[in-house]
Order: sequence, then structure tokens, then C-alpha cells
Amino acid sequence: MYEDRFMDRAIAISATALDTPGTEPFGAVVVKDGEIVGEGINRSVLNHDPTSHGETEAIRDACRNLGTVDLRGATLYSSCEPCPLCVAAMLIAGVSELYYAADMTQAGAALGDLPESARFPIDVGHMLSQCGLPAPARQMTSARHQSARAADILHRWAGKARSPLLSSPGKLGR
Ligand SMILES: [Zn+2]
Repeated sequence: MYEDRFMDRAIAISATALDTPGTEPFGAVVVKDGEIVGEGINRSVLNHDPTSHGETEAIRDACRNLGTVDLRGATLYSSCEPCPLCVAAMLIAGVSELYYAADMTQAGAALGDLPESARFPIDVGHMLSQCGLPAPARQMTSARHQSARAADILHRWAGKARSPLLSSPGKLGR
């Protein structure tokens, strides 16, 4: 269920980018059982990490804090509508609910005309159109090589994972 106090926090985190070089104004929190368990802000430039978005950082923080990769039952609050990378991260972690403040149109109106020197551009529409395609149909060069060797390792690993005597159980690895 939506609660204003969590969105207040996500937006407050986004506002810290106004005074923190190398960050961008995208803040997020992960909430589980009525408590914030992870927080994040876009640190792409600061961390030299193009995947450091507010939402991915909040998911990483939550998973480290909880010692799990399983965020089923958790809610993500973001100051801005998540890009496809962050939607994928939420799906991978099993995040159950999303609430966001600014939408893509508002973000585009604010940031769309910035020069590349000010912000490395992200084309969300292009990401959306490409991610759902089979690999060979994507615009980027993409081809298969050495599939049998790689698949053999997958099968060997799965075999060990199925046998509790040969591997430590670990947390849900998805
Ligand atoms: Zn994102």
C-alpha cells in the first residue's frame, strides 16, 4: 500500500544531487514490512558505473542489508519512473510493487535538451524497443559462439545445485 513518507524520502534523496557532484536527481527506496531497507541515488558518473541508477542502487543496498537476492513482497518508491534497466532489476529481484513520482515525459522535458557534456544521454524508447527482441533481431551486433562448452558448464553447475551434498544451499539464486 502506498505511503507518502516513503515517496518523501525518495524525492529527498533525489534532491541531494543538487549539491553532490557526480550524482543525478533520481532517488529510490526499497520498503519491506513497513520499513525502508535500502536507499539509492544515481551515482553513474561518480562510480564510473552506467548501471548505477537510483533504483538499482536501492535494490543493491536492500539486498546487502537483508542478506538476500529475494525482494518478493518489497515495494520500490522512485522519484522518477524507472527505465527498462531498473524495471528488469526489479523483476530479477522479485520486487512486488512500484510507486514513482515524475514520469518519463516530465524527465524528458527537464533533461532531454541537455548537451552530452552535461549528461550522457539515455534513450529509454530505444531501450524499450530493443530489450524485448530476440538477440539476433537487436540493432547491436549479436552472435552465438561456443554454445556447447558454455551450456555444459550450466548443466554441471545445475547438477551440483540439485545435490545438497555437493554444494552449499545458498540463498535463492535466480
Ligand atoms: Zn534506471
